[in-house]
Amino acid sequence: MSTTLEEQRPIAVPAAAEPVLRLAGIRRVFVQGTARLEVLAGIDLDLPKGTTAALVGPSGAGKSTLLHIAGLLERPSAGEVTIEGAACSRLSDRERTRLRRERIGFVYQFHHLLPDFTAHENVVLPQLLAGRGKVEARRRAQDLLARMGLAERLRHRPGRLSGGEQQRVAIARALANAPGLILADEPTGNLDPHTADEVFAVLLEVVRGTGTAALVATHNPELAARMDVTYRLADGKLARVQAA
Ligand code: ADP
Repeated sequence: MSTTLEEQRPIAVPAAAEPVLRLAGIRRVFVQGTARLEVLAGIDLDLPKGTTAALVGPSGAGKSTLLHIAGLLERPSAGEVTIEGAACSRLSDRERTRLRRERIGFVYQFHHLLPDFTAHENVVLPQLLAGRGKVEARRRAQDLLARMGLAERLRHRPGRLSGGEQQRVAIARALANAPGLILADEPTGNLDPHTADEVFAVLLEVVRGTGTAALVATHNPELAARMDVTYRLADGKLARVQAA
């Protein structure tokens, strides 16, 4: 955790009570010509430390848009995103980039690994960018990849890995800087059902083992049911789905 973020925390609020991610009154409007599409029409969400949450809803409901806003890749039309106590609307783009790099890990449907680097290097690089020393970064990458079941694949380039293995490396990379929050957009959507099941299991195991909070968009109700809570996005609104 950087000192800057510590300093930004309101002193009166105990860190343990703070959600890792807070969305308050988030709106997102896309304007194209005369058409005005309100994809997010006032979203509130508190995601506590270590909580895994599924984000479900029909295609086009705005799940990706919500994840982009929560991950500081896009600014909302209105509302506030707070990451570990740091209100983000007033931050400069540079501060948002730093916060994103150090405190948020992303997993996408497609792995987006660097093809010319080994699995190990793909997990080392984000740590070097965040300022961690080489020896520590290498050790941590090795440890994370071993936890993802890839101890024997460290020197493989992505092209020599199966789809499931590539996605495991992408998950290890997302966890490389020990983020407080993982945001995942259909992380197993490109895998066959059996592999998706395995990769999802190891994702949840490692996320839970590290105490990271996760918000995971998925179309798969079985995978959603394995998470602590489910939120459904429809008609611009987010509602918590009660367990059956
Ligand atoms: P989901 O992830 O739930 O499938 P998206 O967040 O990708 O939904 O998209 C929600 C809606 O917002 C869609 O109708 C999409 O066409 C629209 N949309 C997304 N991004 C843009 C954009 N940059 N400009 C205009 N419309 C957009």
